[in-house]
This record gives sequence, structure tokens and C-alpha cells, in this order.
Amino acid sequence: MNEPTDRTPESERALEIETALTAVRERLHRACVDAGRSPADVALLPVTKFFPASDVRILYHLGCRDFGESREQDASPKVAETAEEFRSEPPRWHMIGHLQRNKAKSVAAWAHSIHSVDSARLVAALSKATTVALDEGVRQAELDVIVQVSLDGDVHRGGVERGELHELADAVSDASGLRLAGLMAVPPLDADADAAFADLESLHRRLMLDHPDARELSAGMTGDLEAAVRHGSTCVRVGTAILGARPITSQ
Ligand SMILES: *Cc1c(COP(=O)(O)O)cnc(C)c1O
Repeated sequence: MNEPTDRTPESERALEIETALTAVRERLHRACVDAGRSPADVALLPVTKFFPASDVRILYHLGCRDFGESREQDASPKVAETAEEFRSEPPRWHMIGHLQRNKAKSVAAWAHSIHSVDSARLVAALSKATTVALDEGVRQAELDVIVQVSLDGDVHRGGVERGELHELADAVSDASGLRLAGLMAVPPLDADADAAFADLESLHRRLMLDHPDARELSAGMTGDLEAAVRHGSTCVRVGTAILGARPITSQ
């Protein structure tokens, strides 16, 4: 009948992503209004981990200029694959997952920011790698560091213990090549999101007393972005609601 003949798997995927992205943008807008905040103050960071460069391309053409990735070995090829195409207006790549020190050099070559910095040893490795990358002209600007704090002290899930947060933040701000940009956390499993983000918000307030430029609060994902926005989030990291479910093995 009137079935369009130009439908391809690629155009179907583009339509699916466009619909989901529009819904998430509306959802975030509503969350801001409900929280009495300006929508301009909360950035949407689409998380593209486990999804191919073709999906990144679709998001880019829908106006996205920030992408979150959680594994260096998945991110680096995607960054390389899209670099030429995005050259006139390069996006900002954000590393949001746990980072091993031996990946610091690679990440320093392409990341605008890292949301998951949780140890002094990683700070040292990133500082060294970024300084070299700046000297060699591989990157032009300092690396934005967002320190990840553990809200329940279970450091296996990432994040520095709250008792060590200020010392780590001082180390970042003293390190060459790095700029302390803010604080990040993932709520503990089974935690009440509002309580967890209220706790995070107060840690962020205290951090800002010593480091007034550490304004970013990276908080909120698909399941809890409204609660995060109620508690001062400036950046919600959203994967599933935009790109769909990831394989079970992902994190
Ligand atoms: C995967 C991931 C996200 C996105 O989670 P969704 O629930 O899919 O929105 C956010 N933050 C971090 C640190 C992640 O690893």
C-alpha cells in the first residue's frame, strides 16, 4: 500500500533513536521544571557504551555533542572512527566508567572529561599522560576531572570513600594538566535515590567551599534522573532510555 520504499535498517534505527532522544529531552525538561530549576542548567550526556559508532553518528546528527563511554577499549576505536567526520565540530567524549591506570595515556588522547576518578594513583597517571599529550599537541586543553565518591563505602563499585574525598580533590587541583570540575556518584544498589542524591548534594556543597570551580554534579541515569535533578545534578548520564537495553554482561 503506502509503505515507504526507502526504509532501511539504518533509517529505522535513526527514527527509533530520534523518538527516544526526544522523549528523554522532554523528560529531563519536565524534571527541571518540576524541581524549580532552569533546564539550561542540567546537561544531557548520552551514554553510547556497547553501541556502535553508527548510533553515535545518528545522535550527532540529532544535535548531540557530548557522549559518555565506560570502557577504554570500546571507546577508542569509536572515537577514531568518527574523528574525521566530526572534525569541523568535534564532540566532547566523557569517560564515565572505571579506568585502569595503564589506560590513562589512551584516554588522555581523546577524553574531554573523566567522571570516575577515585584514586591518587589514577590522578598521577592522568596528570602525567595529559601533560605529555598537551606537550605533543595531541590535546589542546586540560582534562576535566570529576571525582567519583562512594556513597556507601563499597569501593568495589567505584568511588573514593567520603573521608578521603577532600584529599583527592586537592590532589586533582594541584596536578598539572588536570582541572577539578566536580563530583560524581552512582547510588548504592537498592538505595532510595532521593536519600542518596541528597547525601551527594551535601558532599558537593562542602567540596565547593574549598573548590568553588568544581561546579559539576554528575548524577542521575535512566532510572533515577528526576531524583538527581531534584538534588542539584548538572549532568545526567543516560544510556538505556536513549539507545535501548544493553547486553546483560554490560555494566
Ligand atoms: C552505563 C552507565 C550509565 C547509563 O546508565 P543507564 O541506566 O543505561 O541510563 C550512567 N553512568 C554510568 C557510570 C554508567 O556506567
